[in-house]
Amino acid sequence: MFKRIVLANRPTGDATQENFAVETFESPELNDGQVSVRVSHFSLDPYMRGRMDEVRSYAPPVQLGHTMEAGAIGVIEESRFPGLIKGQLVYGRLGWTQLSVIDGQQVQLVPESIQPNSLALGVLGMPGFTGWWGLLQYGLPREGETIVIGAVTGPVGSMVAQLAKLRGLRVIGIAGSDQKCDLALNQFGVDHCLNHRSYSDSLELENAIKEYAPDGIDIYFENVGGKLLEAVVPCIREHGRIVVCGMISWYNSGGLGAGAQTDSLNVPRLWRTILVHKLSVKGFIISDHWSHYEEFVADVAPLVATNAIKYLEDVVEGIERAPNAFIGLLRGDNLGKLLVKV
Ligand code: NDP
Repeated sequence: MFKRIVLANRPTGDATQENFAVETFESPELNDGQVSVRVSHFSLDPYMRGRMDEVRSYAPPVQLGHTMEAGAIGVIEESRFPGLIKGQLVYGRLGWTQLSVIDGQQVQLVPESIQPNSLALGVLGMPGFTGWWGLLQYGLPREGETIVIGAVTGPVGSMVAQLAKLRGLRVIGIAGSDQKCDLALNQFGVDHCLNHRSYSDSLELENAIKEYAPDGIDIYFENVGGKLLEAVVPCIREHGRIVVCGMISWYNSGGLGAGAQTDSLNVPRLWRTILVHKLSVKGFIISDHWSHYEEFVADVAPLVATNAIKYLEDVVEGIERAPNAFIGLLRGDNLGKLLVKV
């Protein structure tokens, strides 16, 4: 028997343990073209909170009673797909499960150069690719510029920070604890790090950013929204760029953010700053750009191998612990890329 985690009901506000249920199942018979994969690790990512809401987005929601979605790696147990054989290590959207039966066309071999294999879910997987693509395509970083990055110790933020440093930018990170700021400074090499929990409101945080960047900043890599968005945007210089990658502080507010605490969010001030400072604002969804994934691996894998790009994994053991770990991710409990070792 195998275990999987299904969506038991939809959250109203913060995701809770009750939204998830553990089910057991037997390995089903394969149809032609399918493979069964014994999952070794699956990834927990902020976007999964959106899939729990019954809201139309760039991807459909997880249906009630269905396995929670996740990118995962695992070993092929049985194959009825020509070209894949038992024992091969593959990546696919296998879900929060110990065993996945999936169309062989929907998995890809994990390149042997990716060692340890779990990096295919983090620094050399979707989150690392997101940071690389977002910064280089839309941040348009130039030597000597200043960038601010929220959630800077996560797999997206830490990739952006390190690539920016390699390109000669000054990096101001924002993170949710002093421990995370130590990591950002000592492991990921940012120039300054601000603990957003030390500032009671966005104005205090804005003033702290301005102390480090009195002439303004050039790029804001937006992962968080809320207080950070409000604090950073007024610091952006004329012709600056905002890369809208995520807005995690609002994910628990429901699909359209309708329940978000935005009383303090001064939309006229934000909008006016975008106009008067002639800012570029670019949102993106990384799944639109998978055709560039191999370019990313070719560029970044050597940097990881030589330690020029560092990474941090937060590995939780046991599938039953996935819901709790995911709930923690939405509060900032994770230290690095959050993975479940099944
Ligand atoms: P992380 O591992 O960085 O985890 C999320 C982090 O967000 C937490 O550790 C915490 O960091 C911060 N956070 C959580 N809740 C709050 C809150 N209420 N207020 C402020 N900060 C909070 O995640 P990733 O690196 O995987 O993802 C970072 C962002 O990138 C997310 O917004 C995600 O949705 C987005 N993303 C977008 C993609 C795209 O295609 N556009 C693809 C992949 C990711 P801290 O404690 O430091 O505040």
